Amino acid sequence: MAAKEQKKQFKAEIKQLLDIITHSIYTNHEIFLRELVSNASDALDKLRFLTAGGQAVADADAPLEIRISADKDAGMLTIEDSGLGMTADELVTNIGTIAHSGSAQFMKEAKASGESLDNIIGRFGVGFYSVFMVADKVTITTRSATPEAAPVSWTSSGTGSYTMQELEADAPRGTRIEIHLKDEAKKFAEERTIKDILRRHSNFINFPILVAGEQVNTQPALWREPKFKIKKEQYDEFYSFLTLDQTPPLETLHIAVDAPVQFTSLVFIPANSSSGLFDNPDNYGLDLYVRRVLIERKHKDLIPEYLGFARGLVDTEDLPLNLSRETLQQNLLVDKIKTTITKQVLAQLAKLAEDKERYAEFWKNHFKVFKLGYSDFINRDKFAELLRFNSSADEDQKGLNSLAEYVARMKDGQKAIYYVSGPSREAVRLDPHLEIFTQRGLEVLYLYEPIDEFIMDSLRSYKDFDLVAAEQADIGELEKFESLDKDEAQPEALSEEDSKTFEDMLLTIKELLGERVEDVRESKRLKGSAACMVTPDGAMSSQMQKYMQLMTKDTSPPVRVMELNRDHPLTRNLLRIFKHDQGDGFLKTSVEQLYESALLLDGYLNDPHALVGRINALLEQASGWYAEIKKA
Ligand code: ADP
Repeated sequence: MAAKEQKKQFKAEIKQLLDIITHSIYTNHEIFLRELVSNASDALDKLRFLTAGGQAVADADAPLEIRISADKDAGMLTIEDSGLGMTADELVTNIGTIAHSGSAQFMKEAKASGESLDNIIGRFGVGFYSVFMVADKVTITTRSATPEAAPVSWTSSGTGSYTMQELEADAPRGTRIEIHLKDEAKKFAEERTIKDILRRHSNFINFPILVAGEQVNTQPALWREPKFKIKKEQYDEFYSFLTLDQTPPLETLHIAVDAPVQFTSLVFIPANSSSGLFDNPDNYGLDLYVRRVLIERKHKDLIPEYLGFARGLVDTEDLPLNLSRETLQQNLLVDKIKTTITKQVLAQLAKLAEDKERYAEFWKNHFKVFKLGYSDFINRDKFAELLRFNSSADEDQKGLNSLAEYVARMKDGQKAIYYVSGPSREAVRLDPHLEIFTQRGLEVLYLYEPIDEFIMDSLRSYKDFDLVAAEQADIGELEKFESLDKDEAQPEALSEEDSKTFEDMLLTIKELLGERVEDVRESKRLKGSAACMVTPDGAMSSQMQKYMQLMTKDTSPPVRVMELNRDHPLTRNLLRIFKHDQGDGFLKTSVEQLYESALLLDGYLNDPHALVGRINALLEQASGWYAEIKKA
């Protein structure tokens, strides 16, 4: 007796999705075919993977292909594959739920932000539903490759519900999708239209696609062709087939290697931004084929994360076909492939870097991912060459400099490459630690991202030059270089006695600040500011400490050294007050203020209330004195 037909409601998320899709009037509707054909191709890949591993399947002799037929008069289109098929349970989970939760929400947002639905559909793994752009009724008949499984059918008009039924009579292995086209979509039942669409979107599908018995796709396994036979347009076409990205890639690598492992590979560097990788860090890798059989999409062990912006595939003869995905993980051959691909991509980038403008394109789109390369110790030198930084030598935040360019501009006798971190160019340029660099005309690299500190910390040096944070620079080294503003009036030197009093004042200030500071000392680096905080020798740079604190959620300011500019008018005034009365209250208030101002500049001031209260009190005093002088 035939199993009863069951009627089920779609989950809320699917209803939402269907609602978006059926109302997508401005979308390129033909992509539904691309989605269904690529599902069929995936199902065939999975089946081939099973049989390659020696598993028994139903209809073992059925040819692996996709058949498409159409009936124009009836407005029907049918897509059949001899792939993996689905059991009743699989049908419910695969078609009845969305693989990535939140997809509907994402789609809504992406659509609201103006992104076209064509791009969105492929990305969010909801391809099947795109059929409801053109269909008012769809029937899936599917028979799983598992030998004892019963065939099932599923029908829906893409509104609120679907029906399912286990079938009595046997059916061939695989999946048949019958589409009843909407009136306005009847053209998709025309053979010519179908063939055109397939050539546009599905030319590289790895299995024959037959329309009325004739194979339409002509270009399987482009990577197996000799390089000299392939035109740039073919690579570009394959790239957009693989990624759904319509912009041709910035770079294409076609790699064929025989030793130590035999493999061929196509690797593309997209021209579009990869910053989205950070929304979903797992979304990288190269597709792995063994003798043209797809083993796994986006296999992560084939390319390091920092080159994760690259898209493409690897096909090797040297791995066994019946390899499980788990054992693949520790496979030495896979590791060797990764090593070779990494070297080749880095070499290609080095070549690209010869063209500054194009390299800037690369950098703009992929630096976020690429910077993770600081952890690749083996390729450390090559990685260092490929880094770019903004610098004090640039006119604006757009300027990009390599370490090599910095070194070429270095002053005679300069022993280190200096850098400073901050959230923006404006912020960095206010950093008092830079005053001596500006005064001596020394270039400083500007680091705007937390990860830059990690890069500097792990590289430590470039060629013969140490990478040194500006605040940790050896001031003696900097003073060797001539001051650029030597014509400026020098402040009057302190008398010997005043110098001694200044030293006493530093001690008093240290007592006032207590455990909050490691030391208080005279500054050689400050020119225009009265005070700043520096990290004690040998400690992490302030920025690095801050990033560490972000991770540990510790918000207390680090204990550092306070430096005072002896020649600053403010310091001189304090010295006068100190000479008069070492315990003066105004001196205390000023020291607190200088300390908190420094914290504020460095982003460590958690509560500004005390600081604002103090400033107001000082203003009140100052305005009183000022009014007195002016006799207002
Ligand atoms: P995606 O293909 O991105 O996962 P879809 O909505 O297109 O999203 O398909 C959902 C799932 O349904 C697929 O992952 C697959 O498991 C199953 N499926 C779809 N089409 C087929 C098919 N022709 N044969 C076997 N399984 C299929």
